[in-house]
Amino acid sequence: MSDKIIVAIDGPSGSGKSTLSKMLARRLDFINIDTGAMYRTVALAAARAGIDPEDHAALEQLCANLPISFKRVGVKEQVWLGDEDVSDAIRTPEMSLLSSAVSASPVVRKAMLALQRHMGGNRCGSGVVLEGRDIGTEVFPNAQVKFYLCANDAERGRRRYAQLRQNGQDVSLEQTVAEVIERDHADKNRKHAPLKQAQDAIVIDSTALDTNAVLEQMLHYVHLAQGKKAKGEG
Ligand code: C5P
Repeated sequence: MSDKIIVAIDGPSGSGKSTLSKMLARRLDFINIDTGAMYRTVALAAARAGIDPEDHAALEQLCANLPISFKRVGVKEQVWLGDEDVSDAIRTPEMSLLSSAVSASPVVRKAMLALQRHMGGNRCGSGVVLEGRDIGTEVFPNAQVKFYLCANDAERGRRRYAQLRQNGQDVSLEQTVAEVIERDHADKNRKHAPLKQAQDAIVIDSTALDTNAVLEQMLHYVHLAQGKKAKGEG
């Protein structure tokens, strides 16, 4: 069975994308690309350089030479900026909001789109799972399988809160729910590559499902697509 397919996973924050794309990639032995981590790394680099998210010229220059890379160490997927592991530094509430702000810039999107297509296309014969907001609509509109994950606001906020607390962040549930809603509103309403469901995406509402149930559903669709590809239909 040919398994060199592209799986796109989009959806709002807290919909389960990160957890499920990692699980799916592991089960399929695919490469996993967390595109949100890339926008977060741009945000971190911009903050350190004192760049305003509205300063497109400075952002363009920053992105032109930004050494973002991923490393898998055991089961942990790390994000590196040059020779620094920034995996924890990019996961703060401040970086969540700032990544949403810098990702609205067309110059940042253009640079990340090129990098994501390069990483996704250059996968040495493996399949790939990419997760983000615009994978099925902009980055790989021809992906063989597209998922759009969603869950209600309260559940998404609760998941984000649990994640932040687990990472040692001192946040409140109320504030986290409000930030999740604010960020999704900005991501859905920005001019360039807003978060939206691709017409041909398979929608999975994970509000009342556990991750294994969602994973099994996703695997079912991926196996169908792999079968089609092997028969030359996909
Ligand atoms: O997925 P994550 O919460 O890490 O993404 C951080 C931010 O990066 C999102 O709120 C969104 O603004 C931006 N993003 C994007 N396009 C993607 C992935 C993330 O604009 N493909």
